[in-house]
Amino acid sequence: MSSDSTTLIRLQTERSGNKEHGAPIYLTSSYVFEDAEDMRLQFEEEREGHIYSRYANPNVQEFIDKLATVEGAENGWATASGMAAVFTFFGAILSSGDHVVACRSVFGSTHRLFTEILPKWGISTTYVDFDDLAGFESAILPETKVVYIETPSNPGLDIIDIEALARITREKEVLLAVDNCFATPILQKPLQLGADVSIHSATKYIDGQGRTLGGVILSSREVIDRVRAFARHTGPALSPMNAWILSKSLETLDVRMERHCYNALEISKRLEQLGTVKNVKYPHMESHPQYAIAKKQMKLGGGLITFEHKDGIEGGKRFLDGLKMFSLTANLGDTRSIATHPASTTHSKLSPEERAQVGIGEGMVRLSIGLEGLEDIWSDLEQALSR
Ligand SMILES: *Cc1c(COP(=O)(O)O)cnc(C)c1O
Repeated sequence: MSSDSTTLIRLQTERSGNKEHGAPIYLTSSYVFEDAEDMRLQFEEEREGHIYSRYANPNVQEFIDKLATVEGAENGWATASGMAAVFTFFGAILSSGDHVVACRSVFGSTHRLFTEILPKWGISTTYVDFDDLAGFESAILPETKVVYIETPSNPGLDIIDIEALARITREKEVLLAVDNCFATPILQKPLQLGADVSIHSATKYIDGQGRTLGGVILSSREVIDRVRAFARHTGPALSPMNAWILSKSLETLDVRMERHCYNALEISKRLEQLGTVKNVKYPHMESHPQYAIAKKQMKLGGGLITFEHKDGIEGGKRFLDGLKMFSLTANLGDTRSIATHPASTTHSKLSPEERAQVGIGEGMVRLSIGLEGLEDIWSDLEQALSR
């Protein structure tokens, strides 16, 4: 199909005899077989079929097919949450003694996975600063299986040149996996830039309405075969109901992202002009340190902005308390605008030095710009900043 929108709206699982316009929800835990021989063939994977919803389900498959088509992946696998996708990918690919190279600025739970969970099976991780391509290259060891990055990163909005890093990982014959959550399949297509794997928390923009958790892994047939072999028996399955919700959400992803990005760019410019806050950071604003890379690999700048409150931790908290419309909540990518203060919440266990290493200042505020009217978003920010 031609455009992303058309695919996300029109790609649909088979209709039942009732010829529904929208997809029916297949709320079933298992499927019936024609006869004993059909059952044998399906269990032997010699005949395609659904068998059991831990393995496959038409709603889950529709959700995967849409995303794989839009990102240009041969295949995909959907999971119950974004972290289930990250863990399932590593569980499928890594063995004891393997090594991962990752950008230092990864999502909090991914950091815990690298530092507390994977080491239980003798899997180690080396962190590299996001802007040190030579560092990524020299960190790759004979036992390295995956280079894992997040771009834009959460919450620092650091940008890594996917194409340039993919040239290195191709030569070294290791997989390059990208957490594509902040950019969405609409704004950035890592596989088309040379990466091997694209992973999403569908909880964020893909649902986009703060309703359900979900995740997806998009990659080659070979990688997804390994993911399937692992996931069938470990059970991170996405529920049919949530798959239906997420697939329905994809129908509006393109228009939602356009508005998120429009609002966010405009708010970034106004914050910068205001002059009372420091380091306003937005990927498609010229002042972003990796603006050229962001312009090259992202269609639009995304819905997240960070800035630094001049009064540090106390200023950041005071600003949050002054907001009237913005929600104080842990999610992002919602229709509703959200503000968080990483230094006093998600990253409070790190020292100020450790926070600085991953680009988090004491007064740094992360805004997830929603779909409310631009002037309403702005006036809430303006009044909270003037306190
Ligand atoms: C939220 C998030 C995740 C984890 O996804 P869940 O759906 O919450 O499990 C992973 N990576 C990034 C960048 C995220 O923002």
